[in-house]
Amino acid sequence: MNDRYLEFTHSAFGKSFASLLGLPTPPRLRRADAPWAERPLEGAFVLVGGDSGATLTEPLLDALVGTGAGLRIVPDHAGLGPIKSVAAKIKLTLAGNPAADSGEARSQALVFDASGLASPAQMREVYEFFQPLVRALPSNGRIVVLARAPDACDDAFRKTMSTALRGFVRALAKEVGKNGSTCNLLEVAKGGDRWIDAPLRFLLSAHSAYVSGQTLTVTAGASAKAVALPRSLAGKAALVTGAARGIGAAIAEVLAREGAQVIGVDHPSQEGALGDTMAKLGGHGLALDVTAADAAERIAAETGTRFGGLDVVVHNAGVTRDKMLRNMSPQHWDMVLNINLAAILTINEGLLKKGLNPGARIVCISSIGGIAGNAGQTNYASTKAGVIGYADAMAPMMAKRGGAINAVAPGFIETQMTAAMPLGPREVGRRINSLSQGGLPQDIAEAVAFFASPAAEGLNGRTLRVCGQNWFGA
Ligand code: NAP
Repeated sequence: MNDRYLEFTHSAFGKSFASLLGLPTPPRLRRADAPWAERPLEGAFVLVGGDSGATLTEPLLDALVGTGAGLRIVPDHAGLGPIKSVAAKIKLTLAGNPAADSGEARSQALVFDASGLASPAQMREVYEFFQPLVRALPSNGRIVVLARAPDACDDAFRKTMSTALRGFVRALAKEVGKNGSTCNLLEVAKGGDRWIDAPLRFLLSAHSAYVSGQTLTVTAGASAKAVALPRSLAGKAALVTGAARGIGAAIAEVLAREGAQVIGVDHPSQEGALGDTMAKLGGHGLALDVTAADAAERIAAETGTRFGGLDVVVHNAGVTRDKMLRNMSPQHWDMVLNINLAAILTINEGLLKKGLNPGARIVCISSIGGIAGNAGQTNYASTKAGVIGYADAMAPMMAKRGGAINAVAPGFIETQMTAAMPLGPREVGRRINSLSQGGLPQDIAEAVAFFASPAAEGLNGRTLRVCGQNWFGA
C-alpha cells in the first residue's frame, strides 16, 4: 500500500508545508535490490572505535575487512591502542577520518567495540567516540555497538555496563532514525566471538533497513568454521506458509533471490493467487490448510520426493480476528489460536519426525502485538507471544540437529492486513516508530532470509523485532 504522506513530504510543496507546520518528514529508506553481496560495503567507509579494554577487536576488524569497507579511525580516542595493534597484526591499513569540509565521502557506518566496559566512568569513552561523530552520519547510515552479553560478564560492574549499552543504543536509535539511519546492539555470548560476521554484515547492510534499536545476541556455532552469507541458500529447499500474498509472498521472493527452491503453502481458497506468486519466482505451490490434521504428512510427502526434504521452514500464515475479550466468540478465539500457534507446533512435530533435513532452520513469524499486547487482540497476542517462547524452548533441540529456530516480530507492515485497518489507527500505526513510516513486506523477508541462512548459525532461539523501533512494547 502506498504511503501517501511520505510521498507528499518528498514533493517540493510537501517539504515546505511539513517544515512550516513542524510535521515529520519520513526519510526514504534504502533497501537491498540484489542478493547478499560478497563485499556489501565496497566503496563505503566505516569508522571504527572501541573502549580501552575492548576484547572483540580482532574478530571485529576481520569481519569488517571482509565487507570491503574502507576502515577509518579517529585520533586520540581511548580504544585506539587495541585497534592499531590488531590492525598491525592482520596487516590492515586504517585511514584517518577526513575533515567535514575535505570533500571526501562521509563514513556510512560507525562501529564501536564496547566489550571491555567495566565501570560507569568508562562509559564516557562511548560518549567521546559518538558525540562528535553522530551529526555527520549520512542518511541511511548504520551504527552498530558490540558488547559482551550480560550473561557472559563475570562481575556485576561489567554486567551493569553491558546492560547500560542497551539503553544507549535504544536512545541513539531514536535520534538517528530521522534521517533513515539505524542503531543496533550486537551482543556476544560465551563462545560467540567467531560468529559475529553474518549478523554484523546484516546490521550494516541495506538488508536491515527497518531494523533499529534492537539487540541481537550471537552465541557459539557448532561448525568448525562459519559459512559465508552470499549464496548460502543456493539449492536449499525452503517451505513458506501463507505465501500467496503479503509478507509470505515477499519471503518466498527473497528466499528465491538468494537461490533457494521455494515451496509456497497457502489456504486452498488462495490457490489461484498462490499459483501466480509461485510462477513468478519459479517456486512450487501447495494448497493446504495449515490446521489440517495431516498437514505435516502432506508437506513431507510433497517435498520429500521432489526436493529431498526441507532445509528451511518459515511459519508465516497468520490471521487476526480482533474483538474485545468480552465480545469475542469462541470460534474466533479457536481460529486464531489454531492457525497462528497450534499449526506451527503440530507441523514442526511431524516434520521433526520426517521431512526436515539435518541442519534445517525454522523461522516463525511473531508480532510486536505479542510483545506489547493490544486491546482487542487477546487471541492474536497470545499466539504471537507463544511463538517467541516456542522458539526459545525449541532452540537447544534444534541445535542438537545442527539447525536453529528463531522468530521475527514485525511491527506495522504495509500489507492487506494493515490496509484493512480504519484510517486513523492505520496512520498512527505507521508513524509511531523511529523511522516514522510502515515497513514493507521485503523488510520482514530480509530478516527471515538472514535467519534461514546457515551463515546465521550463531543465532538460535532469538526473536528480532523488525519494526523501525516501534514505540509499542519497546
Ligand atoms: P495476509 O496478507 O493476511 O497473508 C496471510 C496469508 O496466510 C494469506 O494468504 C492467508 O490466506 C494465509 N492463511 C491464513 N490462514 C491459513 C491457513 N489456515 N492455512 C494456510 N494459509 C493460511 O497477512 P500478512 O500481513 O502478510 O501477515 C503475515 C504474517 O505476519 C502473519 O503471521 C501476521 O500475523 C504477521 N504480522 C503481520 C503484520 C503486518 O503489519 N502486516 C504485523 C505483525 C505480524 P487467507 O486469505 O485464506 O486467510
